[in-house]
Amino acid sequence: EGTDTTGAFRSAPYRDSSLSVEERLTDLLSRMTLEEKIGQMMQLDARADLDELVGVSLVGSLLHASPERNIRAQQLVTQTRLGIPLLMADDCIHGHSFWPGATIFPTQLGMAATWDTALVEQGARATAVEVAATGLHWTFSPVLCISRDLRWGRVDETFGEDPHLIGELGAAMIRGYQGEGLTDPDAVLATAKHFAGYSETQGGRDASEADLSRRKLRSWFLPPFERAVEAGARTFMLGYQAIDGVPVTANEWLLNDVLKGEWGFDGTLVTDWDNVGRMVWEQHVAATYEDAAAVAVSAGNDLIMATPKFRDAALAAVGSGRLTVAQIDDAVTRILRLKFELGLFENPRLPDPERQRQVIGSAPHTALNLEMARRSLVLLRNDGTLPLLETPDAAPSAPRTIAVIGPNADDPHAQLGDWAGASGQVDWMPDGHPRETVLTVLDGFRRAVPESWTITHARGADIGDLAEDPRGVFPDGQPRPPYFQAASPDERMIAEAVEAATSADWAVVVVGDTVALAGEGRSTATLELQGAQIALLDAVVATGTPTIVVLVQSKPSVLPESALGAAAIIEAFNPGMQGGLAVAELVLGRIEPTGRLPITFARHAGQLPVFYNQLRGQHGDRYADLTQDPVFAFGEGLSYSRVEYSDLRLDDSEVTAADTIRATVTLTNVGERPSTETVQVYVTDTVTSVTWAERELKAFRQVTVPAEATVDVSLQLPASACSLVDAAGDRIVEPGDFELLVGTSSRLADLQSAPFRIVTAA
Ligand code: BGC
Repeated sequence: EGTDTTGAFRSAPYRDSSLSVEERLTDLLSRMTLEEKIGQMMQLDARADLDELVGVSLVGSLLHASPERNIRAQQLVTQTRLGIPLLMADDCIHGHSFWPGATIFPTQLGMAATWDTALVEQGARATAVEVAATGLHWTFSPVLCISRDLRWGRVDETFGEDPHLIGELGAAMIRGYQGEGLTDPDAVLATAKHFAGYSETQGGRDASEADLSRRKLRSWFLPPFERAVEAGARTFMLGYQAIDGVPVTANEWLLNDVLKGEWGFDGTLVTDWDNVGRMVWEQHVAATYEDAAAVAVSAGNDLIMATPKFRDAALAAVGSGRLTVAQIDDAVTRILRLKFELGLFENPRLPDPERQRQVIGSAPHTALNLEMARRSLVLLRNDGTLPLLETPDAAPSAPRTIAVIGPNADDPHAQLGDWAGASGQVDWMPDGHPRETVLTVLDGFRRAVPESWTITHARGADIGDLAEDPRGVFPDGQPRPPYFQAASPDERMIAEAVEAATSADWAVVVVGDTVALAGEGRSTATLELQGAQIALLDAVVATGTPTIVVLVQSKPSVLPESALGAAAIIEAFNPGMQGGLAVAELVLGRIEPTGRLPITFARHAGQLPVFYNQLRGQHGDRYADLTQDPVFAFGEGLSYSRVEYSDLRLDDSEVTAADTIRATVTLTNVGERPSTETVQVYVTDTVTSVTWAERELKAFRQVTVPAEATVDVSLQLPASACSLVDAAGDRIVEPGDFELLVGTSSRLADLQSAPFRIVTAA
C-alpha cells in the first residue's frame, strides 16, 4: 500500500472548490505530465489488474467494476500523485444491470411500449438513485438507435423504430438520469448512444458497415440525438460501425461539424469498446495503433474505451508530431470538467452501504417497476377470452384451473433479458439476480389468481443453448460470441404440456427467446420461435383449450399459424423483475391493457424492412408470394374496451410554418371498461420535392376514457415539424397540402384524416 500523496497538493488551486471550474481546470492541467493526461483519456475494464490500471496506466475512468473492485479502485486513486478522482461507469440500461438485487425494469423496447414519457423518466430517476448509491457516476444509456432490421441482436436495447418516439423517450430518460443537474447527489451522467447509424446493419449483422447517406442520417437517424443534446445529455458514445468507408471513430463530419458544430454539443465523447483497436485489427483502416490513436483524437474523441494500447500509441503520436499536446489538453479538459462539475474532487461519491440498503430494490422502486411492466404489455389479439375475470375484483363463480406452460413461463433470465445479471457481460453474477427478486409468469399467476383457483405448470419445450465457438478468441483477446444451438422437440415434455392444457380451463403458453438469442454478436438470421416452441404451440392449441400466448422476448418474432389462431396474444418485451405478475394481472383483468407497439412485426423475415414510415414509390405493394402487410404494425395494441375515434377537426386548415397546428378529435368508449388510449398523430405531406415517408408520427397523447364515456381530445403540433430533408440535405418545410392523421395505430385504416395547408416555407 502506498501513502495518500494528495496531501502534497491539498492547497493547490485545483482542489479549491471556491474557484471556478475553469480556474481549477487550468491549474490542474498545468501540473499534469503527458502520461497523466493520456491516462485520463483511457477508460479501461476494471476486471484487469487494478494496481496497474490506476497506479501505472493512471486511467481516468473504469467500467465494469464489481462492487468490491469499485471500492478498491477508488482507494487506489488517492495514492496517485495528483489524486484525480475516477469516473466510474457501467451499463445500467434498464436498471442497475449488474448490481445484485437492483431494480431491473423492462428493456428499453418494453419501456417504449408504454409510450409514457413521464413514467420512463421516473424509471430512469429510480435507476440513477440506485446507481449513485453504489459509487458509479455514469450510465451508458439511453440507446437512441432506430431498429429497422429485426434480425439485429440489439433491438431490445432500443425504443423501437420511430424517430419521434425515440427522441421523446430518450429525452425523458436523460432527464431522469441527470436529475436537477450534476451537483444533485443522485445524478448520474447519461450517454446518448450509439452515435450514429449503428443500427443500420447489413443483414442485421452487428457492427457491420452502415449504408447511410448524409440525407438518410439527417432524415431519421440523427434527430433523436439532436433531441438528446437539447435534453442536456452530458456524454455521447460512438457506434462501432463505419459509414461510407469511415469508422464513426474517425468521422470528423459527424463529430465535429454536426454534433459539436451545428448542435453545439460541448460534452464529452467516449468511443465504444476498443473502437480505436478495431480500426487496426478488424476494419484494417489503420496500420498501427499510433495511426488509429491519432485519427481518433483528431476526430474529437475524448475517452477511449477498452484500448489498453492507447497509452503507448498516443505517446508515440505526440512524439512523432501526429498529435499535438493542445489536442490532448482539449480532450482531457472535457473529461476533467465532468469530474469538477460532479464535485468528485470534494466528494468522490464512493459506494454508500447505508444508502444502498435504503434504495436498492426498495419498495417504491419495485412498485414503479410493476407499473412500468403493466404499462409495457401489449395485447395484440383477443377473441373475447380475456380478461378471465369479469371485473377486476370479481368474486370467481367457480374454481378454475390455468395451465402455465412454456420455456419462458418460469425463466428469470429470459424475462429480464440482455444487460441484466447473467446476460454475459460481467463475471461477478454468473447466476444473475437473486431468484426471489424476479416474479416470473408462473410466480405471477400463483400470486394473482383467486384462492380457489389452481395453477399447473409444464415446461413443454426448450429453446436452446450456447456452445463455444471453436475458433477461440478474437485477435485482441476478446471472446468470440458463442453459437446458439436450437433444442429439438421432446415428446415427453410436449405430452406433459398437452396433458396440463387438456385438464385446464385455459392454457397460458409463454414462449419467446432467451439471452442466447439477443445482444451483441447474437443477431439472428431468422425470426421464428426457436427450438421446440412451435411444436409446443401447435400441440397445445390443438387441444382446443382456449390458449393465451404470451411472448416474453427481446424483439418481434415471426409467429406460427397456431399462435396467430390462439385465443389471445400478449407481447411482453423482456418485462423486468415484476413482469410475470403484470402478465398475470392483465390476463385476469385486474389491470387494463394499455401498451402500444413501438415496432412493427413481420410475417416473415423476408419482408424486412417492415417499419411503417417507408418511402413512397415502388411497383405495387406486395411480393408475388407474400403480402407486404405486417402482422402487427407500429402503434397497434388493444384494450379490453373499444374506443371509436370520430370528428377530427382543425382549428385552422391554413397555417404558416411558424404556427401551431391545433386539432380536436372525439373519442367514444363503446365498451364497459375504461381504456387508456394513446392518440397518435401522423402527418402526410401530399407532394414533396424528394421522395418522402408516406406518413410520420409527429405527436401523441395519452388519455383515459371511462367506460361508455365520450371525450374530446385536443392535439397540437408545430407546423415546423411537418418537415422533410431535401436533396441538398437540409431540413425544410415545403409549403403545400398535408393530411393530419389521428388514430390508434400507424395503419391507414385506424386513422381519421383532415387536410390542411402550410402557406409559407421554413
Ligand atoms: C456496447 C456498448 C456498451 C459498451 C460497454 C459495447 O460493446 O456496444 O453499448 O456500453 O460495450 O459495456
